[in-house]
Amino acid sequence: MCGLVGIIGNNLEVGPVILQALKRLEYRGYDSAGMAICNNGRLQLKKGVGKLEDVERKCQMSAMPGMAGIGHVRWATHGAITVENAHPFADCHERLAVVHNGIIENHNELRSQLSKKHTFSSDTDSEVISHLIEEGLEGGASLEEAVSQATRQLKGSYAFLVIFAQEQNKIVGARRDSPLVVGLGNGRNFVASDPLCFIDDTNKVLNIEDDELVIIEAESVKVIDKEGNPV
Ligand code: GLU
Repeated sequence: MCGLVGIIGNNLEVGPVILQALKRLEYRGYDSAGMAICNNGRLQLKKGVGKLEDVERKCQMSAMPGMAGIGHVRWATHGAITVENAHPFADCHERLAVVHNGIIENHNELRSQLSKKHTFSSDTDSEVISHLIEEGLEGGASLEEAVSQATRQLKGSYAFLVIFAQEQNKIVGARRDSPLVVGLGNGRNFVASDPLCFIDDTNKVLNIEDDELVIIEAESVKVIDKEGNPV
């Protein structure tokens, strides 16, 4: 179980800030790294195997423009250490991206159901999350609703974050048995597995509890419980 971060801001190019935050997670050990950023209604995603600085040198992840993005350093549990298995994972149409910490125990069942309609690009347990959310969105749900529906189908432990090109003013996160904290900044907000990620920007921290959903925007943070009620 390694680390993840999401950052959204007003007039803030988040690429370099995400890179900085991921550097703060390096002490935990990891085998690959990646980032996804939304810009002008489009999703961009870059990832690679090895040290963060090597992945950055090779793919220039932090140069992707945009004001909302997510990043991940992976400690492989399901699926070999390959570029394809590095996070983030997109949906079939590359409109949304997901980073995940933890283990999805029922990933085999979910993958075999989803494979009838969805094309998987990795061998990880985590990728079922992006396709489950895609299912919800295709059924007409909002991003929050689609995330909430997805969590009802997941067994195991997770903290995950999602960005969606068509709702690029927000990042949605969810957790169960894996840490997730929000950092309240000035004109920018953070959500991460470890508060070290945003220690340079803010010391205002909000802990997300199991089965809660968090929606961060540049100027607001909303937490909702399992039943969909505001916390
Ligand atoms: N189970 C996931 C994987 O193997 C997430 C691992 C992690 O927490 O870094 O990719």
